[in-house]
Amino acid sequence: MTRPPFDAPSPEDIATVSRQLGRPARDVVGIAARCVCGAPTVVSTRPRLSDGTPFPTFYYLTHPAATAAVSTLEAEGQMPGFAALLVGEVAEQYRAAHEQYIADRESIAVVDEIAGISAGGMPDRVKCLHALVGHALAAGPGVNPIGDLALERSAWSPLVCECVPEVSTVSTSAEAS
Ligand SMILES: [Zn+2]
Repeated sequence: MTRPPFDAPSPEDIATVSRQLGRPARDVVGIAARCVCGAPTVVSTRPRLSDGTPFPTFYYLTHPAATAAVSTLEAEGQMPGFAALLVGEVAEQYRAAHEQYIADRESIAVVDEIAGISAGGMPDRVKCLHALVGHALAAGPGVNPIGDLALERSAWSPLVCECVPEVSTVSTSAEAS
């Protein structure tokens, strides 16, 4: 788990994220969470992309096995169940998570077009478990209650490496040449 300020991502990190996304990773300001093997699992993206587009999703889940496992939770129809938990103390924690998310992003840059907007449906809805799990992995346990729970229920764990070894071997030799 890593919150700003971030170390600059290495060229290897950017290459790995680009492979995970299947397109060139752009405007990455830091690696907010990693697999036990060290590969990025969550990237932090500049709040205004270099082409000028405002980008509210500061924490973005990039790991293919993680995104697939979270997609399964959504496909299983778990979102209304998560949303139903947003009462009392959990609702308060979720709102605090929303505020921390925006504070983290605004420590990099304040972008007026996305002021007060976080991600994933925060502060009072559950719209995207990928965004909430991304935040939970970046912030660490105990910050985003819905992200924590979704991560716990998913078939993926940051403690078990599911990175594809052939892909990283190919890229390492490509980078070395
Ligand atoms: Zn790994």
